[in-house]
Amino acid sequence: MSPLDNIAKLSHLTRTDVQKNWLISTAGGNPIQPVTLNEKQYIIWPAGRQIQYLTQKIIVPEHLAGYPLAGMELRLILTWWAEDVKIYINNQFIQAGDLFDSSTRILLSNSVSTGQEIVVTLRLVSPNHDIGGLMKSELIYEYSQAIDPGFVADELTIIHNYLQTFYPENLAAFTATLDNIDWDNVTNKDKFNQSLESIRQSLQPLAKPLKERSFHLLGHAHLDMAWLWPLAETWQVAKNTFISVLNLQKDFPALIFGHSSPLIYEWIEKHHPDLFQAILEAYKGQSWELLGGMWVEPEVNLISGESLFRQLLYGQQYFQEKFGQITKTAWLPDTFGFPHQLPQILKSFGIKYFVTGKLHWNDTTKFPHGFFWWQSPDGSKILSLMSPPNVAGVMDTNPIIMTDHALNWERQTGLKDIFWLPGVGDHGGGPTRDMLEVAQRWQKSPFFPQLKFSQATTYLDSLETSNLPIWDDELYLEFHRGCYTTHSDQKAYNRYCEILLYQGELWSSLANILLEIPYPKVEIESAWKKVLLNQFHDILPGTSIPEVFRDANQLWRQVITTGEAILEQALQAIATQINLPTLPHPQAKPFLVFNSLNWERSQVISLAVESFNCSVYDLNNCLCPSQLSQDNQLLFLAENIPSVGYKLFWLVPNQQATEQNLINCQFILDNGLLKVTINSETGDIDSIFDIINQKEILQTAGNQLQAFKDQGQYWDAWNIDPNYQQYPLPKTVLKSIKCLEYGPLRWRIRVSRSLGDSEFCQDYILEKDSPILQIKTIVNWQQEHTLVKTAFPLTLNSDFTTYEIACGAIKRSHQSESPKWEVYAHKWADLTDTEANYGISLLNNNKYGYDATNQQLRLTLLRSPRWPDPETDLGKQEFTYAIYPHQGDWKTAKTVHHAWQLNSPVTVVFITNSSRSTQLPPVAQWLKFSDDNLILMSFKQSETSPQSWVMRVYECQGENAVIDWQNQLQLTIKESIDGLERAIDPMEQISPWQIATWLLKN
Ligand SMILES: [Zn+2]
Repeated sequence: MSPLDNIAKLSHLTRTDVQKNWLISTAGGNPIQPVTLNEKQYIIWPAGRQIQYLTQKIIVPEHLAGYPLAGMELRLILTWWAEDVKIYINNQFIQAGDLFDSSTRILLSNSVSTGQEIVVTLRLVSPNHDIGGLMKSELIYEYSQAIDPGFVADELTIIHNYLQTFYPENLAAFTATLDNIDWDNVTNKDKFNQSLESIRQSLQPLAKPLKERSFHLLGHAHLDMAWLWPLAETWQVAKNTFISVLNLQKDFPALIFGHSSPLIYEWIEKHHPDLFQAILEAYKGQSWELLGGMWVEPEVNLISGESLFRQLLYGQQYFQEKFGQITKTAWLPDTFGFPHQLPQILKSFGIKYFVTGKLHWNDTTKFPHGFFWWQSPDGSKILSLMSPPNVAGVMDTNPIIMTDHALNWERQTGLKDIFWLPGVGDHGGGPTRDMLEVAQRWQKSPFFPQLKFSQATTYLDSLETSNLPIWDDELYLEFHRGCYTTHSDQKAYNRYCEILLYQGELWSSLANILLEIPYPKVEIESAWKKVLLNQFHDILPGTSIPEVFRDANQLWRQVITTGEAILEQALQAIATQINLPTLPHPQAKPFLVFNSLNWERSQVISLAVESFNCSVYDLNNCLCPSQLSQDNQLLFLAENIPSVGYKLFWLVPNQQATEQNLINCQFILDNGLLKVTINSETGDIDSIFDIINQKEILQTAGNQLQAFKDQGQYWDAWNIDPNYQQYPLPKTVLKSIKCLEYGPLRWRIRVSRSLGDSEFCQDYILEKDSPILQIKTIVNWQQEHTLVKTAFPLTLNSDFTTYEIACGAIKRSHQSESPKWEVYAHKWADLTDTEANYGISLLNNNKYGYDATNQQLRLTLLRSPRWPDPETDLGKQEFTYAIYPHQGDWKTAKTVHHAWQLNSPVTVVFITNSSRSTQLPPVAQWLKFSDDNLILMSFKQSETSPQSWVMRVYECQGENAVIDWQNQLQLTIKESIDGLERAIDPMEQISPWQIATWLLKN
């Protein structure tokens, strides 16, 4: 007999499949009819919270295949896919479960007797979005304190697999030994077990190498802050999980548990101080590990570089303050891909290790490394671990699953130390008593690697790091590509709030430095923490239930109220202190135009005016070019607004702005730089002609709104149908087209189109002196399972596109079979034809999904999944994107700067109450770097001293930069600091893609 046949035969002596024995029953457990199994041997029933009752009577036989069972323990193994499960034994409720707590090994009897009857009844509720399933039902007779045939079968399987993989020369001896199983005496339990025992003895020399291997176990419970349940429930789940772990630690003192998310600890500290104290004690006793260092486990592709800094700043700060130590291990097991600059940012916070398991979910490519250096574009490297795969929510201590993983791991990395994370996750739970008992049993087996509990950091510290592979790229998740677009409200709020808080902090800092206005540190930190919570990896991606978004939107609105008030307060404080020059007119109204960005810029500004008999004058009493707009606004060109500064203008009555003359429009926009022709039949763009370079950039119609059916993905909100291109929907229908403005400052054509029941209103806008065509969009979105992209087929050719990421940019090539067929970018993507030395940037103000081919750039505008939120994205949405044709590449064209400008427009503040105290000049440039490839990303009060300031920049073009800055604030650089604001070695210069932070003092 082959060894595998022997093992299977052995297994059947104590294990029996009872899946087909279920009877569909009434709620009371009365049988109605037998079940039917599908081809996978699953019992399935319809979606929509349908209740399925199943019952079966187990009668303990005298023996299985001859092996006597009396006196053994009996367990029922179940695996289900149901959102609510209740298990009754002999009409007594015994256990509950759900989608995450989705399997059990339930003890039916401590010692069975022949003919014993046990009635098991299940109440299973299917998920609303998916069919329900019972996938596995197996009875196991065992001796938890001794060997039994099933246990030995598992031991033999494990040795066999190790020998086959690493020691094939010993397989023959193994096979021969198994031939000594005393099958003739199977009915004599003692004799038969003795034969098994002697086989185990003779196999021990062969199994010796297994003990050179070690499993390092860390108890864990992945806990989603909000997902298929609201935040309010998460607090309770966290509390219950932590109590359960601390209780288990009393019975299993070796158990070590690791958990991330300072926000959860903070809640426990506040609401359950005793529990917090117990956690603190466990932490001091080394049986509790702090992981992550970020405030929550966020989505990290879409959030800004500064958001990543704040996740880590407030997270690590909390750990330091409450536990006396920061964590060295970044922990993002479930986040949907990771940006290339993350290693550099993590290192800035004392993080040594990065752990995720999410790339096991890739749909196309198996991620090649288990343990590797992950390198940022600036050269920063972080040791990174792909944690064991966990797709089901539960990671138990099943010895076969564990060793299968261990074999793969060792083949991949050559490492004999293996990490394992037992525990029920997603909705909390953590390790169970049964998992720990099973682990203890296997710890004693000579045919299993060593098994011990260990902190993740201790495990990582112990690994050999020489000759590790280096991954110098983003970690792209080949799966949840819809999350760049789904729930656009979250994306829009996130972008707006990130920029608002940057502006609020910057101007509050300046108001304090210049005028000693109190700095609102507490309010700013509280607003940031709300943003950080909403960046959680099921909120910002748009993959939760409606209640979660109702809660999240309330927080976003609080952030906006606070942020706008803080900004307004700071700008008003500055405005009231301006030393006003002589009025150009007795009724002239002074106002300031503020620029929060660190370079000089010009912008067409529209002012709401009471009467159109007015004009704008600049400081030198020169009339600014102006125009009356269609929507009763006075437009004027504010030129050369200084870097991190402002400029005074006057609104003066009795002058006439240029009247509109729309007769010549002919649906052409022409500002002398670009000539854009709109098709009056379709509303698409027929031509974008670069007048300076005499170049047509469109191959065929531009801004085609291409719609596709996007349906049939199990992960509806998460995934775009990979075959969506095969299901194009009818084109949009033009409803109206009209010219709204025709120079000399702004040209604007409005196009209204419909797609099914949805309406698109788009304004094509060109401004004076700007080579950028803006497309301002308002949509009333009503479609179901539909994806919309705007497409720009180009006369250029390139085999790659560059995309903005947090604190940098990434080149992604256009291979036809590439799994990166939908990618994310922050504020821009750029396709440059290097041969033609000409390119196109496609900017946006709150979208993130893009795709590109050699001759086309597309931005994903809309999706409409129906699960978990059945009303995702229905209703009104506003967004702007812009097409920017340019000579040279995105660096020479300053695409980064233009994209910032689109997202952070200048701010107008009227001076209504000037104190005439003559403190501040009417035009000021407070801060400027001599190299304009440095982008200011944060200017804030330091965490440690109200008299010091923190300034952070990133190098945005992959080039060197000198540290040369002018400031009118009497500040000097005290020292270079890391993310935690601790002094580091001074910098000589800034290298390509480097992020630099300084502490400044007066
Ligand atoms: Zn998660």
